[in-house]
Amino acid sequence: MDFSLNQDQQDIREAVLKHCSQFPDEYWLEKDRSGEFPFEFHKSMAEAGWLGVAMPEAVGGAGLGITEAAVMMQAVAESGGGMTAASAIHGPVFGLEPVTLFGTEEQQKRMIPPILSGEEKMCFAVTEPNTGLDTTSLMTRAEKVPGGYRVNGEKIWITNAHVADRMLLIARTTPLEEVKKKTEGLTLFYCKIDRKSVEHRLIPKMGRHAVGSNMLFITDLFIPEEDRIGEEGQGFKILLQGLNPERVLLGAEATGLGRVAIRKASKYAQERVVFGRPIGQNQGIQHPLAKAWMQVEAASLMVFKAATLFDKGLECGTEANAAKYLAAEAGFEACQTAVMSMGGMGYAQEYHVERYLREVMIPRIAPVSPHQIMNYIAERVLELPRSY
Ligand SMILES: Cc1cc2nc3c(=O)[nH]c(=O)nc-3n(C[C@H](O)[C@H](O)[C@H](O)COP(=O)(O)OP(=O)(O)OC[C@H]3O[C@@H](n4cnc5c(N)ncnc54)[C@H](O)[C@@H]3O)c2cc1C
Repeated sequence: MDFSLNQDQQDIREAVLKHCSQFPDEYWLEKDRSGEFPFEFHKSMAEAGWLGVAMPEAVGGAGLGITEAAVMMQAVAESGGGMTAASAIHGPVFGLEPVTLFGTEEQQKRMIPPILSGEEKMCFAVTEPNTGLDTTSLMTRAEKVPGGYRVNGEKIWITNAHVADRMLLIARTTPLEEVKKKTEGLTLFYCKIDRKSVEHRLIPKMGRHAVGSNMLFITDLFIPEEDRIGEEGQGFKILLQGLNPERVLLGAEATGLGRVAIRKASKYAQERVVFGRPIGQNQGIQHPLAKAWMQVEAASLMVFKAATLFDKGLECGTEANAAKYLAAEAGFEACQTAVMSMGGMGYAQEYHVERYLREVMIPRIAPVSPHQIMNYIAERVLELPRSY
């Protein structure tokens, strides 16, 4: 049992923090105000080779594990970039895992390098307005036509769909009434977003304004056969393979955000003098920050436990779910404590923590809600009966 980062992982952390220091707090504040995608940041991370940290060397990646990807994403969020920086590059870092695991060699060579180089952007189109977390009931339909599929349906909350060139899309190829299990008959595609057939509408939302999320209206989108990932009808099983690494990375991002929030608040509490002494000399300020620090660091341990299990090829569903839950809740507590520790200035944009508080709601809600994680632990770990 070793709880420390090895030298290579420590080097990744330091290099990423150094790289991200080119993008100071003011950059992220300005992006949040303008709502403009952080193109410069995305490009610089691609050019420095970071997007391929966990992708195979054969397709231009570094061939490292989810542990290294988690080290990197934690540092990205912790640099002050928060969820805006993390979500700008989150897709390329893990999103093409289904292509590496189930794609043909031709697909891997065609699909992955343009994403790692930053030439193309991608998004992840799973959630639907009428079915939500009940993913296997999704209603987007892909009908077989000569040479490929014709797709019709709606998706919601699709992050980066407005700037993306391609999407990883799940759709039903066999109607629900004709399958034995709801998990069957769903198919995964990685396809071009043909804007003539895919209309997007940005969703006005609470935070992370520079990285938009969209409603998608898909009408008669033609997807060629060669863009189907894996076998027809196996899409849900394929998608499941990517869920654990995604939870690990979101957990890493949430703890990074928690860390930077605590750091900002502690610095402010050392400097702000009221009643003739720094506010940080009061235990009423110290203790909540100390508690938030302990919660964030404990959650970070669960994140790296899940990452280590995944990289060793061991079962990690429980730990990955627990890590995402603990990290998001600890990150939220840290951001909220930071705002409250700084009084009025905690609420001012120029002190940044109000932005973190708005952003930390994202890893709490997505890609799976805290309720669903508790359902998972109750059923799978505690062996309690399914409640729904
Ligand atoms: C900023 C943001 C970005 C996102 N990006 C993407 C993206 O890029 N791609 C994508 O596909 N999706 C994305 N999502 C969608 C996200 O994954 C979903 O919002 C999330 O999975 C919850 O689904 P829902 O909103 O449909 O909630 P619903 O399924 O409508 O559930 C609503 C609430 O009811 C609770 N609930 C439902 N059933 C139960 C039950 N049985 N027991 C207990 N509680 C229950 C849920 O936990 C939840 O809190 C994003 C969401 C946000 C907010």
